[in-house]
Amino acid sequence: MKLTRGIHSKGENVSHPEEYDVVVLGSGRARSFAWSLASQGKRVAVVERRNLAGSCPTIACAPSKNVIHGAKVANYFRRGAEFGIAAGDWKVEMPAVRDRKRKMVDGIVARNVNAYRESGAELVKGQGRFVGPRTIEVTADGGTRTLRGNVVVINTGSRARIDSIPGLADARPMTHIEALELDRVPQHLLVLGGGYVGLELAQALRRFGSRVTVIERADALVNREDRDASQALRELFHDEGIAVRTGTHVERVEGRSGESVRLHTTRGGAKEVIEGSDLLVATGRTPNTDGIGLEAAGVERDERGFVKVDERLRTTAPGVWAVGDCAGSPFFTHIGDDDVRVVRDNLAGIDRVTTGRLVPFCLFTDPELARIGLSESEARSRGIAYRLAKIPVAAFIRPWTLSESRGFYKTLVAADSDRILGFTAFAPEAGEVMTIVQLAMTAGLPYTALRDAILVHPTMAEGLATLFRALPARP
Ligand SMILES: Cc1cc2nc3c(=O)[nH]c(=O)nc-3n(C[C@H](O)[C@H](O)[C@H](O)COP(=O)(O)OP(=O)(O)OC[C@H]3O[C@@H](n4cnc5c(N)ncnc54)[C@H](O)[C@@H]3O)c2cc1C
Repeated sequence: MKLTRGIHSKGENVSHPEEYDVVVLGSGRARSFAWSLASQGKRVAVVERRNLAGSCPTIACAPSKNVIHGAKVANYFRRGAEFGIAAGDWKVEMPAVRDRKRKMVDGIVARNVNAYRESGAELVKGQGRFVGPRTIEVTADGGTRTLRGNVVVINTGSRARIDSIPGLADARPMTHIEALELDRVPQHLLVLGGGYVGLELAQALRRFGSRVTVIERADALVNREDRDASQALRELFHDEGIAVRTGTHVERVEGRSGESVRLHTTRGGAKEVIEGSDLLVATGRTPNTDGIGLEAAGVERDERGFVKVDERLRTTAPGVWAVGDCAGSPFFTHIGDDDVRVVRDNLAGIDRVTTGRLVPFCLFTDPELARIGLSESEARSRGIAYRLAKIPVAAFIRPWTLSESRGFYKTLVAADSDRILGFTAFAPEAGEVMTIVQLAMTAGLPYTALRDAILVHPTMAEGLATLFRALPARP
């Protein structure tokens, strides 16, 4: 099967759109749904302008984790003597770091191409835009096609937001896309934004040898997390030689990223000029919902520009659904995937909603910071009574074997029952360990199930038993 069908000359098919069972606008997470419907014999089209595998495997999650892993290897080289490995000559070759990432991306894209081919879902390459109810015009290379879906799913994702700070856009800052394509180590990288995108890349580039300064306007890094977590990250960054400026507002930017940049900042009334060679912007996301003709389809946006959806991800237009980042769901691939399940089930007549779902979070620094369920600050602000246990990871054995004894596990359990309310880990493999607690929470297991489980020694999971044993008895 050919991947794309011919694009017709402009206007040819507007009054007679090609009819489909389902049209997906944007090859984001909903593409797997398209493949599955197509393999059941439905007529399905996915409209994509650039990344036929969506953002996650091409410019976001997988490439960043690939590069982060390379940086971890560099860090092991740096720490070699600690492990009894003689330090010899070694250096970071950024073109090779980038090529390893590109090779991985190419492999994943090839699998996606295959999935389109095998399922029979049609990939229509081009820029899509609504021209009427459930009707999308696709433009590419000067030609257009018009597709109408019985069902349409909007899955256009989001892009890095560049705030309207004077001089910022003119400085041509990198976003994660360019940062993940670097073939050189920046001399001094300034990272705007202390959220997960900024922090992961800040640590990676530091480990490759760049001087790094992180600038965050809130008064803490990852400021939605508890203060002990953001403080632990700050100490990690300090120990790795990353400068952190919190509570810092950038008023004006001068210069050009890649050459020389000057940030004019204020912090608590004091002015400071922060200079660097390169600038990375990681201050938030803008949904890709502008210029796609939503008004022609009767699809409304909210005040922040996200597609307005209800808890079943129905938009304001009959037959049109929206999933993932563009629908204002938490910006994670696993949430995009769950959104797709919500739409799939509702279309099949099974009631499923987005409300009340557990949203796992993992920051892939080294060590990782992961959380599921309530943080302490959320529990307090919502007036939920809890029991707390917190242990350093040095309280169990695995971290000692790894020479990685920085970090902690923390849990909140209901004050009046054995229900687990939340878990935070700042530790090696925190994301994996969190998943164990997530499963226990999903299954409604009491915390005692983890406390009394026979867990392999010595693993990071074993620390969960140590943690839950430290929980105070019910009052
Ligand atoms: C650096 C970085 C690291 C990340 N790491 C993680 C991580 O480790 N774990 C995690 O869970 N999440 C991570 N995320 C978030 C995650 O990547 C996103 O939440 C996820 O990719 C969103 O998927 P989506 O389906 O909403 O859209 P996307 O995957 O972005 O797909 C949208 C697609 O629509 C296309 N499109 C848009 N408009 C049009 C149009 N008009 N016509 C045709 N095509 C169009 C786009 O080209 C794009 O391919 C990371 C994000 C970034 C930036």
